[in-house]
Amino acid sequence: MNTAWILEEINNISQIGMTVNGVTRLAFSENDLKARAYLKKLIDDIGLEYREDTFGNMFALYKPTGAEGQIIGTGSHIDTVPNGGKYDGLLGVISSLAAIKTIKEKNIHISRPLELIVFQAEESSRFGHSTMGSKIMAGKLDNFVQWEQSADNNGISLVEAMKEAGYNFYDINKSVVEKDRYKAFVELHIDQSKTMKYEDKPVAVVDGIAAPLRVKVTIHGEAAHSGSTAMRYRKDALVIASELVLAVRNLSLAYDERNAIATVSKLDIFPSVMNVVPGTAVMYIDIRGINSKTIDELFGLIRAESSKIALRYKASCEIELLSSEKPCMLNNYVSDIIEKSCKELKIPYMHTVSGAGHDTMNMAEITECGMIFVKNDSGVSHHQNEEILKEDIEQGARLLYQTLKNLAK
Ligand SMILES: [Zn+2]
Repeated sequence: MNTAWILEEINNISQIGMTVNGVTRLAFSENDLKARAYLKKLIDDIGLEYREDTFGNMFALYKPTGAEGQIIGTGSHIDTVPNGGKYDGLLGVISSLAAIKTIKEKNIHISRPLELIVFQAEESSRFGHSTMGSKIMAGKLDNFVQWEQSADNNGISLVEAMKEAGYNFYDINKSVVEKDRYKAFVELHIDQSKTMKYEDKPVAVVDGIAAPLRVKVTIHGEAAHSGSTAMRYRKDALVIASELVLAVRNLSLAYDERNAIATVSKLDIFPSVMNVVPGTAVMYIDIRGINSKTIDELFGLIRAESSKIALRYKASCEIELLSSEKPCMLNNYVSDIIEKSCKELKIPYMHTVSGAGHDTMNMAEITECGMIFVKNDSGVSHHQNEEILKEDIEQGARLLYQTLKNLAK
């Protein structure tokens, strides 16, 4: 694997949209189109079969003689958030391209075709919808009207931005992928947390992509005069809420190993006045995990505990489920092959989960998927300081190369 080539091409593309505050390459913007044109030239130079779909997802197929049947896909995205980092998305695209390039140059025997996929509009920054390209591919576009009406901060609609870039919004449904096109899909991505930096492992096998369940808890206590109400007669909604905050933490700690977490992320009290015992507290709880059953179980415990605590104060509470998204488990043969490849190359690795969403979530609806994370040396992402050590890029790229060879064998 040619790490120097990877670093050079990441540098070249990240210059497109680079400012003093980071990289800005929003989907369908001028910078995005420039980066796409640059990438297309790279693909042509390597000699892969290039095509685009009606939304602008890019594909580069390598199908040497003897490679037949379902395709092994690999890739990520090149659009960024405003003032983003160099590596989010781009690292996966260039590492995938480097792996296919090396397999082609060394004429390594593969019995399945390999395809680089560059998903369009992964970030929700411009139009408010995330992983758009992969949603279309997986046939998961169920809010067509919302997409049609979405516009960026300058009032440019998605429909207009696409038209300007040479695409027709009303054709996007033509890009749903046949269910059996891919045998497997692997995405390499920079870790967007601090976990791998603290564990000091260059790569990780991602066991799943977490999804949030959101709950609103309203505690009905009793507002009262803070001077004339004896402590024993109070139904202080904030005191009840405080007990619940600690209960959420304690219940979640027991779920740490099972990759479920919960956060009281917003708390409002009423009337919120200096001399009044709080009568009502409204709190929002964000519960996340990679397994629906575990998330529901933790939610059940939090629900039971809320009622119990409220009852102890002779108050009541109302629990409302605001939203529940489906997490994505990646416990399949692709993850096994990633792990096996780590062992073959003697690369130290760990298991982790992704708290952030990725195109892989949607690809998992149409094929078996795996993800590789590479250690983020800065511990931050969606930020200009995002950084990876050269040796970790090298280990990640070697692992992806080995994984693709094993999958396509
Ligand atoms: Zn990303």
